[in-house]
Amino acid sequence: MYQEITKKMDEYIALHKDEMLDVILNLAKYPSILEEGTEGAPFGKPCRECLDAAVEIMKQHGFTGGVSSDGSYGLMNYGSGDKTIGLFAHTDVVPVSPEDWIYTKPFEPKRMGDVLVGRGVEDNKAGVAASIYAVKLLEYAGLGLKNKVSVFLGSNEECGMADIEAFARENKMPDVSIVPDAGFPVSFGEKGICRAHMIIDGKFEEITEFCGGTAYNIMLDRLLVKIKYNDALYNEICDKAKDNKFLEAEKDGDLIVIRGTGLPKHAASPEGGVNAANVVSLALCECPSLCKNDRDMLAQIADLAGDFYGEKLGIACCDDCFGKLTSVNGICSLEDGVPNIALDIRYGTGITANELESRITSAYPKAYIHENKAGFAIPRDDKIAVSLERVYAELSGNPDAKGFYMGGGTYARYLRNAFSVGLQAGYIENETPELPAGHGDAHQSDEILRVNQFVEAVKIIALMLHECDKALSE
Ligand SMILES: [Zn+2]
Repeated sequence: MYQEITKKMDEYIALHKDEMLDVILNLAKYPSILEEGTEGAPFGKPCRECLDAAVEIMKQHGFTGGVSSDGSYGLMNYGSGDKTIGLFAHTDVVPVSPEDWIYTKPFEPKRMGDVLVGRGVEDNKAGVAASIYAVKLLEYAGLGLKNKVSVFLGSNEECGMADIEAFARENKMPDVSIVPDAGFPVSFGEKGICRAHMIIDGKFEEITEFCGGTAYNIMLDRLLVKIKYNDALYNEICDKAKDNKFLEAEKDGDLIVIRGTGLPKHAASPEGGVNAANVVSLALCECPSLCKNDRDMLAQIADLAGDFYGEKLGIACCDDCFGKLTSVNGICSLEDGVPNIALDIRYGTGITANELESRITSAYPKAYIHENKAGFAIPRDDKIAVSLERVYAELSGNPDAKGFYMGGGTYARYLRNAFSVGLQAGYIENETPELPAGHGDAHQSDEILRVNQFVEAVKIIALMLHECDKALSE
């Protein structure tokens, strides 16, 4: 059904591929990591500079618009019409560990054969390029848009989402939106995300340190615990550590120092993960020489950290779209002897945001909520949803390709009628350099973008844009 159109699109891509990739390579030179804000640059100068660069590039391609008055996001328009289709990309990136990079330095992006390497080449500077060229491809293929396209350029997606919150306050919502910052075929919905701090009732008597983790959304994989020294306890712990590869103990002056490790998983999919706080707490609970007060408190921590589906906390639920609620501990700290256990809870349609909060506080009266953003689910039989699913099915040649509901969070949850998609079409062959485990993906060292899969993705996004345009014009 799209054969003639995609042939035209391929023709355009053959002529403009280098130019498309240059947009990404240019933007990926900006180290747009969150920094202290200044006047006009609320997320720091590098974020603002990258935003300005993206706006400039889009102006050269015929988009009009600019940066918001507070400097937190850009808004670029194309065409006109009664209704608006939104495209949402972001120009900020996650921090880097330069020493881990093999093929280049994080902000010296380069092309190696059929991939680009550099921080942000996929997540999400490719989203900016995809937004520009999806529009261009449609024009070239003779499918002019009847409605306005509005491209949002964010600069705080990775750390806070203050950019999209400002957008939602200050602008009319687009009638339908595409967020190229997830995966294919297409996401129809996202779980709600609640970050809660569970304050354990009581105070440790012998444990003097219990800390680890920096991110809510990564399962705790390192925990440091210190306990007042006594011989019997030390022997019991060393005995446990002997047959537990996740546990280490040593004597340090008048303290026992315990280091727990785990297997980190993203909070959206905890399956197969091991939580370091769970490992240590379970082991210490079985040490009779530790005082009962501390053991009782550790038993609660073990439950919170080891129960990935919130059963013990009384929040477990499950639904057809999203499957099980998940609950993952990413940060532990000790304040005045009182343990503070942070949970990242992702919930589907089986529980409301309010109900979740009230169950948490009834189990742990001192708990507090850091943030709680409800998710959304567009029905599978929604007309636009079905048409976007069909675009992917047709181009990939896989009639069974289906839209999905996910635990990950994108801008889509702040919008109305928003579908998130990917930037690499996995069914296209693409040679890739050898990458060790933990390298190559978004947020990892040596982040890559597969060029052939990317240009295919732009075609898919263009046709999805076309379907949205058709639906809005009916
Ligand atoms: Zn992203």
